[in-house]
Amino acid sequence: MALAPQNQTKLKLCWTPSHVGIIGNEKADYVARTASIPIEHTIPLADIRKSVQHYILNKWQETWDLQVNNKLHRIKPSIVLWPIFPIRGFDVKLTRLRIAHTWHTHINLLSGDSVPLCTSCNEVQTVDHILTKCPDFNSSRLNFFKTTILDLNDLVGETPHPNLFSFLRDIGFLFRI
Ligand SMILES: [Zn+2]
Repeated sequence: MALAPQNQTKLKLCWTPSHVGIIGNEKADYVARTASIPIEHTIPLADIRKSVQHYILNKWQETWDLQVNNKLHRIKPSIVLWPIFPIRGFDVKLTRLRIAHTWHTHINLLSGDSVPLCTSCNEVQTVDHILTKCPDFNSSRLNFFKTTILDLNDLVGETPHPNLFSFLRDIGFLFRI
């Protein structure tokens, strides 16, 4: 189209179909148009609940990720639920080992006695000491775990060692948890 305004300057306008035939650009145009269309259908409650739950779990995990000096964080860095041990009594004992609070290691808080020390090492009898450190139990560790170099995660982490309870029975700790 040509225009001839009063000063006789001629202008030519030309329409260029820039996005036509370019698949990516046409998709972008479509998405941009649909974004301005008001939502006329309802959103299922389950979808909203799932989205909110996902958001909250992410926030919780972010907070937990910062707790690097928390002893529980070492055992369980992820907030994802762990499977429940099929036998309730063992599940309770496993949880007590994971949080490092057992009858044997904490009875002094009720009795008023001093902190129990290992008679061999003179170290405080913590769950970590009994399960992974105390040399008194090295032969049992070799027998049940085939090594004496262990971390608590190896024994009571997400997947407890299959010989854990046999080891605990062998060293006389199973019924003091
Ligand atoms: Zn010891």
